[in-house]
Amino acid sequence: TSFGFKDVPEEDKSRLVGNVFSSVASSYDLMNDLMSGGLHRLWKDRLVSELHPFPGMKHLDVAGGTGDVAFRILDNINSISRRAVKYDPADNLNDETQIYVCDINPNMLNVGKKRAIERGLGESHSLVWVEGDAEALSFDNSSMDGYTIAFGIRNVTHIEKALAEAYRVLKRGGRFLCLELSHVDIPVFKELYDYYSFSVIPAVGELVAGDRDSYQYLVESIRRFPPQHKFAALIADAGFQKVQYENMVGGVVAIHSGLKL
Ligand code: SAM
Repeated sequence: TSFGFKDVPEEDKSRLVGNVFSSVASSYDLMNDLMSGGLHRLWKDRLVSELHPFPGMKHLDVAGGTGDVAFRILDNINSISRRAVKYDPADNLNDETQIYVCDINPNMLNVGKKRAIERGLGESHSLVWVEGDAEALSFDNSSMDGYTIAFGIRNVTHIEKALAEAYRVLKRGGRFLCLELSHVDIPVFKELYDYYSFSVIPAVGELVAGDRDSYQYLVESIRRFPPQHKFAALIADAGFQKVQYENMVGGVVAIHSGLKL
């Protein structure tokens, strides 16, 4: 079929996803802005505000290649420190903040590292870039205060494994947050959105990124991803408590959350 990888054996999927993001990395930011009308910035802001970051936290952002989420968390923590009534630069809490950005694709990590330098964060000890797979994380059990994954879990071959790993690396009280393109269930809006995704996105992908197939894959992967309530049930199955989700733009995206208690 023209819709990419439907019939591809599972073991090949990770490699193909890798190829997609290698070819997408350079035009990635522009495409995100074009496809979401800039809204992805607000959605990521929302994700980070739900996280309630704090100085000194250990956080893991998975599929975080470009650093978009990690930079927001760091900005948020820095603004908390500046607002603190008795801010004592000597207490070094900010220096203890560790935000691990884990991505399977070194090209995406390079985009993020480059952007960190451009933001003056090149020397920051708070940002740690790690090449790795969401399904087999290299971090210790109960080592993280927070876990985020933005527009990433949809690409993972076994969602359950990624969720089990998220649960494993979080400390008790740690928060899991996932921002993902989801399902629209509102009549008329759904038809418009389907038209937009199946016709407009691949065309824009071809025009701007010269890569129709990758964007067709993107649209197809949104279709295949479980609807909000089913994904919430998977998160609960992984052991998380107080699982909730919030739809934005009628379900075009959703933020799912859970706590390891
Ligand atoms: N989180 C970033 C953002 O919101 O802008 C990047 C999202 S991008 C659409 C998806 C990312 O997931 C890519 O960087 C890709 O390399 C990464 N990825 C795909 N499969 C992965 C896996 N199994 N483990 C870790 N990262 C993965």
